[in-house]
Amino acid sequence: MSAVLIDGKARAETLRVRVAAGVAAYRAERGFPPGLAVVLVGDDPASQIYVRSKVEQSRADGFHSVDHRLSSDTSQTELMTLIESLNADPLIHGILLQLPLPPGLDAAPALKLLDPAKDVDGLTPTSAGLLFAGRPGLVPCTPLGCLMLLQEAVGELRGKRALVIGRSQLVGRPVAALLLDADCTVTMAHSRTRDLPDVCREADILVAAVGRPEMVRGDWIRPGAAVIDVGINRVPSKNPARAAAGKTRVVGDVAFDEASEVAGWITPVPGGVGPMTVACLLHNTLIAAGGSLPVA
Ligand code: NDP
Repeated sequence: MSAVLIDGKARAETLRVRVAAGVAAYRAERGFPPGLAVVLVGDDPASQIYVRSKVEQSRADGFHSVDHRLSSDTSQTELMTLIESLNADPLIHGILLQLPLPPGLDAAPALKLLDPAKDVDGLTPTSAGLLFAGRPGLVPCTPLGCLMLLQEAVGELRGKRALVIGRSQLVGRPVAALLLDADCTVTMAHSRTRDLPDVCREADILVAAVGRPEMVRGDWIRPGAAVIDVGINRVPSKNPARAAAGKTRVVGDVAFDEASEVAGWITPVPGGVGPMTVACLLHNTLIAAGGSLPVA
């Protein structure tokens, strides 16, 4: 392996130490901590794991954290009523509506109702509009984590050719907007992109947010490029007996072993972008409350 490994776990821990210091200073000044409300509807197992981790980490870092669990037969009206009450709660500065919602519930009106000043996931139309207009606002957590990892690893991003594979509202589009704001020359690729391997070979920075296990091969990577792998894909275990027993492992969208021979920097999966997502949520909640990080 010639690439430098970008250790997202260590970077996330460093960010959380700074956020916790910011929370302590906030509480000392105002007499109460920044507050985060997490709303989970239904019993999707992956969402339950994500929400538990968000609530535990926010409490560990000193936030006032409220966990709202609603059953899967919750009505749209009940969800909207809860969001309205959280919008009005002066002790809550950040609201996270865990997606996806169960069938029968529509995320769009719920996100539209959510106060943009409390939109710590950066998913309301107002937050998305501000980001694309290049104006200050709350930025989606996973894309913010990608940008932080890149800035720390690569340093100055200005003028670099960046390729983002994936154009979702959650990851691809906001990552591209952040890289544009960082003065990169940005290309966005998606399932209809022609000659994707050739497009990848042009990129100094490659962000893969696709959801296809190990799709990006080593010979697609420009030598020395920075590779950020957002993908989280479950595949059968390498051990045939374990695979037969239904055991799985997690891989990214990039073929790590091949790519790390060519890239200049690369994130592992797991341990790359994933840990940054929760740390950036806590960062956003502190900022939404009017707090700040201590100077590094
Ligand atoms: P989506 O399914 O919403 O979007 C996937 C994107 O990949 C789409 O834009 C799609 O194109 C594109 N795509 C699909 N197939 C191809 C292909 N063959 N070639 C090029 N582009 C393709 O996924 P998300 O953006 O929500 O998530 C992407 C990945 O990131 C997933 O693995 C997810 O689990 C992971 N993730 C990780 C997080 C973390 O914290 N680390 C947080 C969020 C997501 P088109 O638009 O044309 O369909």
